[in-house]
Amino acid sequence: MIIYIEKQALEYEQTKKIIERFKNSTIIYIDNYKNIFDKDYTNLDSKKALIIAKLNSNAVSEAPAWYGHTKSAYFFKTSLNCIFDCDYCYLKWAFKNENMVVFVNYDDIKNEIFHKISTLWEWEHWFYSSDYSDILWMNSLSDFSNEFIEFFEQFEDVKMEIRTKSSNITSLLNLWFIPKNTEIAFSLNPQILIDKYEKWTSSLDSRIEAINKLLSLWFKVWIRFLPLLPVKNYEEIYSEFAKYVNSKIKMCDINSTFASGLLYTKKDYNKILSKYKDLDILHMLELDNDWFYRESKKVRDTFYTMFKKLDNKCILCLEY
Ligand code: SF4
Repeated sequence: MIIYIEKQALEYEQTKKIIERFKNSTIIYIDNYKNIFDKDYTNLDSKKALIIAKLNSNAVSEAPAWYGHTKSAYFFKTSLNCIFDCDYCYLKWAFKNENMVVFVNYDDIKNEIFHKISTLWEWEHWFYSSDYSDILWMNSLSDFSNEFIEFFEQFEDVKMEIRTKSSNITSLLNLWFIPKNTEIAFSLNPQILIDKYEKWTSSLDSRIEAINKLLSLWFKVWIRFLPLLPVKNYEEIYSEFAKYVNSKIKMCDINSTFASGLLYTKKDYNKILSKYKDLDILHMLELDNDWFYRESKKVRDTFYTMFKKLDNKCILCLEY
C-alpha cells in the first residue's frame, strides 16, 4: 500500500500508529493532501492509496432540516472516501479520486464539535459521523471508536450516529463501556441487491449477526433501510427481505428504524448521470417537486408501507 503523509500530520499520535501498523507500506511525504486528493489522477500502483492529513477547514456542517431524527443535526468529518464500492454512492462524484484520507488532528475536531454544541439550545441534537466514509470500516486506520464514542458521552441531549455497511464490530466490542450517546446504524438491503450494487460491503447475514451481537450487549442499534432501490420486481424482493429481517432480528429491541429511497439534488443527479450513464437505478428516478431526484411518490409509498408494517415508528427520510 502507498501512504501519503502530510508533513504537518507527522507528529500526531494516530499517524505514528498507522505507520507502525503498516510497516511494509511505501511512504511518500507531501506538503498538502489536496495535491493528491484534489487531482483527477489515477494512482497506477494502488487504486485506493491512504492519505494522512491535518484538517485545516471546518469539520462540522449543518444537515438539512429533518434529515433524520430531529430538526437539529450536523455532519462531521474525520475521514474521506470509502473502501467499499456502492454504485450509487455520492462519494464517487463528490471527490476527484478514490484515495482515502484520514484526518488525524482529533483534538481540533473535538474542539470544534464541543464549541458547536456549546452554542446549541437545549433539545436533542444529532451528529452524523459517517457521511464521508464508512467510519466503522475505517476504524482499523483511524481508531475512530476509541477517539469519539467516549468523547460524546459527556453531553446531555447530544447523540452521535455511526452508520455502516460493515460487520466488523471489534472496535465496539473492545470498548470498556456501553455508550449511551452513540447509536450504531446498520444499512440493510436484500442480498441480491448487495451483490449487484454494494460491492465489497459485508453480507446481509453478517450484518444481521453483528446487529444481534450488539443488541445482546445492550448497544443502541438502528436499522437503516437505505437506499431502497426501485429495481424490477422491487415489491416482491423487498417484501421477502422485510420478512427475512423480521425473522432474524427481534425488531422490538431495535432502537429505531429509518427508511429512504435514493435521493439526489438535481445538481448531484446530473453529475452522477454524466459519469455513470448505464447505471440502471438512476433511470428509475424522477425530479420531484421538492427538487430532489428520487423514486416516484407511488414507489416510495409502497416501500414505506412495507417498512411501517415492520416497525410502525419507522422514520421516513425527508417526507412531509
Ligand atoms: S458504504 Fe457508504 S460510504 Fe462506502 S461506498 Fe457504500 S454508500 Fe459510499
